[in-house]
Amino acid sequence: MNSRNLPNTLGIIGGGQLGKMMAQAASQLGMKTVVLDPNKNAPAAHICTEFIEAAFDDEVALQRFASSCDRITYELEHLPVPALEEALPRTVFPQGTKALLTTQDRLLEKQLFASLGLPTVRFAAIENEQVLYDTVDKFPLPAVLKTRTGGYDGKGQVRITSKQDVVAAATLLAHGPCLLEEFVAFEREVSCVVARNEFGEKQVYPLFENEHAHHILHKTTFPASTTSKVEETLTTSALELVDALNFIGVLAMEAFVQEDGTVLLNELAPRPHNSGHVTMEMCNVSQFEQHVRACMGWPLREITVYQPGVMVNLLGEHMEGYKQHARQLPDHALHLYGKEDVRQGRKMGHVTFSLQEFITIPSSMYEEIWHVKEEAIQ
Ligand code: AMP
Repeated sequence: MNSRNLPNTLGIIGGGQLGKMMAQAASQLGMKTVVLDPNKNAPAAHICTEFIEAAFDDEVALQRFASSCDRITYELEHLPVPALEEALPRTVFPQGTKALLTTQDRLLEKQLFASLGLPTVRFAAIENEQVLYDTVDKFPLPAVLKTRTGGYDGKGQVRITSKQDVVAAATLLAHGPCLLEEFVAFEREVSCVVARNEFGEKQVYPLFENEHAHHILHKTTFPASTTSKVEETLTTSALELVDALNFIGVLAMEAFVQEDGTVLLNELAPRPHNSGHVTMEMCNVSQFEQHVRACMGWPLREITVYQPGVMVNLLGEHMEGYKQHARQLPDHALHLYGKEDVRQGRKMGHVTFSLQEFITIPSSMYEEIWHVKEEAIQ
């Protein structure tokens, strides 16, 4: 602790891009950071105050890490909670394990929504093949079978359009118990990012509108173009969720909006979210700064949106096109995460444009960089 007895060292489990941007925000606020990650070349490794190279389930390393930090946070929710709990007596863990345990399991997540009376998709727990066959008989199709744990960016999901698909879908059960969900023909996907601190202060950003390509977030438009009713329902839901989880930090909630304006909650991320990156340039306070403030017991900042903006991810396969066209693109902020291996589907960085600049990008150039058609621009 520093001389004023304020916590000053934030420990971050996970040194990927989210950990890096948390560490940058902490550094701006004069804090020190200790990052723990198995990869010594992780994006956050070169900008933190201290780096511990260790596996996430290395109890000895976690305890050393916890002893060297006033408070700890994480950038990824797939963490072994028992190992983490061993380390907790040595530090303060504001986010708590309840949100981690809930968001690690899609069934618990959906049950939480239902228990709070929040709108979500129709779902059923599928423990084995027999239950899958029995449930599909009475479940509206198309549906999606998802693994309860371990899936992300569309991994661990199989669509069931007709009963013939069930045999192939059943192979997913080899990875553990699953969840069957109705397939939602949504009009748009949105996310809501909320921050809460230990004094009960809460701040919610306007909604983010998200487009995915191959199950990975491609583009976020901010603020989303939805009705005020959608905004209000989702904002209220997010506020209820952080209170129910007694959550401290930033939490993101993803939802589907249907054509008739009804909303259905899909999933939670108990941490800053890819869709919220646009806040770094478009708001007075980024999701990372709010997260660090909340975790360290600081007051939250009231959110002001400077202007509408668009964030587009740069995956491995976009890097060549981006480099070729960077000079011709309108003014944009570039974030490169510093990952060494450029791989297909790997998030290497992102770019943020003001909406005004974004709409001037020629669609042919957009397609050459991102390999998807962008209808909204000329
Ligand atoms: P998830 O891992 O649950 O966030 O799913 C990844 C993406 O798959 C979502 O962002 C949606 O685009 C799509 N998806 C997931 N669940 C459903 C569903 N029940 N209906 C329609 N699309 C879905």
